[in-house]
Amino acid sequence: MLVSRPVLLAALVGICLTGEPRSMVLATESTSWLDQYRELAARLIGEALSSTFAWHRLSVLTDSVGHRLSGTPQLDRAIQWAVDEMKRDGLENVHTEPAMVPRWVRGHESAEIVEPAHHVMSMLGLGGSVSTPPEGAQAEVLVVHSFQELDAAAAQAKGRIVLFNVPFTNYSETVRFRTGGPSRAARHGAVAALIRSVGPPGLRLPHTGSLQYSGDAPTIPAAAITTEDADQLERLSIGGRRAVVRLKMEAHFDPDVESANVVGEIQGRERPDEVVVVGGHLDSWDVGTGASDDGGGCVVTWEAVRVMKKLNLRPRRTVRVVLWTNEENGARGGQSYRDRHRAELSNHVMMLESDSGVFRPLGFGFTGSEAARQTVKSIATLLAGIGADAIGPSGNGTDIGPSAQEAKIASMSLDVDGSKYFVIHHTSADTIDKIDPGEMARCAAAVAVMAYVVADLPRRLGE
Ligand SMILES: [Zn+2]
Repeated sequence: MLVSRPVLLAALVGICLTGEPRSMVLATESTSWLDQYRELAARLIGEALSSTFAWHRLSVLTDSVGHRLSGTPQLDRAIQWAVDEMKRDGLENVHTEPAMVPRWVRGHESAEIVEPAHHVMSMLGLGGSVSTPPEGAQAEVLVVHSFQELDAAAAQAKGRIVLFNVPFTNYSETVRFRTGGPSRAARHGAVAALIRSVGPPGLRLPHTGSLQYSGDAPTIPAAAITTEDADQLERLSIGGRRAVVRLKMEAHFDPDVESANVVGEIQGRERPDEVVVVGGHLDSWDVGTGASDDGGGCVVTWEAVRVMKKLNLRPRRTVRVVLWTNEENGARGGQSYRDRHRAELSNHVMMLESDSGVFRPLGFGFTGSEAARQTVKSIATLLAGIGADAIGPSGNGTDIGPSAQEAKIASMSLDVDGSKYFVIHHTSADTIDKIDPGEMARCAAAVAVMAYVVADLPRRLGE
């Protein structure tokens, strides 16, 4: 029987008048739909937590394929491996979607202090950097701690190597010096730029990552050095003293090459055209093995879909796992997904990216309408048992961003305990030994429950 809204409201008020607190009645009323998912969520969580399958899958990717910089044969191998494995899982519509990607080649590189005493630094060129002349760039170092300090010391920057020795606070604050620092220094006539690695101090590990040259400045070579070496240079140059560095880099671009996003699905049983997307990026930097960034994100989102398949669950709408290419140095995978799927973006119900590591899951960030947020918050209560029920103020990712922004698609990110992530981020220590199989299984469980329920909701998320 259909009940008109006024009648329903009257009924609710009537119940309130009998003594139950109104808010409690409304809360019960508004989340009773959730009950149908309780047993199912328990099954998904139970299945994900019953094995270390995800961790072992990640170990194959990282140990047997290795790191996967865009344009390398290793990334091609990873793509083919993922296609084969998704088919083996029984996923549907498994295929690749081509995307052209840049091919940046690091080459040999080194950085050393040559005055006042010889000291070989531990360094990594920044992705996208140009090379030095073959004999290297050798110059006195100018140490700065902010863009303002650089601008104030502009006259001294000419002909120097500028070091941005800015301690890590959080990623978005500190990464500005890596992305924008080289061009800021070049504008003042610097011959090269060094940055203190973007991460907390950690046993002389340099952290690579992309720079972005601006069109109005000369392109100068740039590299990250360790916090220890940055502090040594700082001590050496205090009080107008002279520290001289020689930087040698062979970095360059080869022509763009074809790469691909990998796609697999469980097609929806009622509305197969409506899609919930989950995924991570398959490419990585060329150091470490990209276990945390972002092999783990690929594997846990994929595992979420594999677990649904294993339990023979088919939600109302399609769940699609996408392993994007080229997040690290071009974001072409996410852009090409948007371009290729432009006509069906309005059928994307939600997109979820895992790219912050696969440590102990805390919940999800969410960006979307208030109505959708309330629904997602209710779904997250199903994850309280594994401690992954928090819904944060914003959820986004480099790969889902282009699509989500263009079509205003609700977007989510997997939120995890971030205390270890930036210690190893973009370093040679980003290897699977840092990842706990149990935590990874919980990440997969959280994604499985969230993605399944959003895909299965009787009414589309946000409606
Ligand atoms: Zn990443």
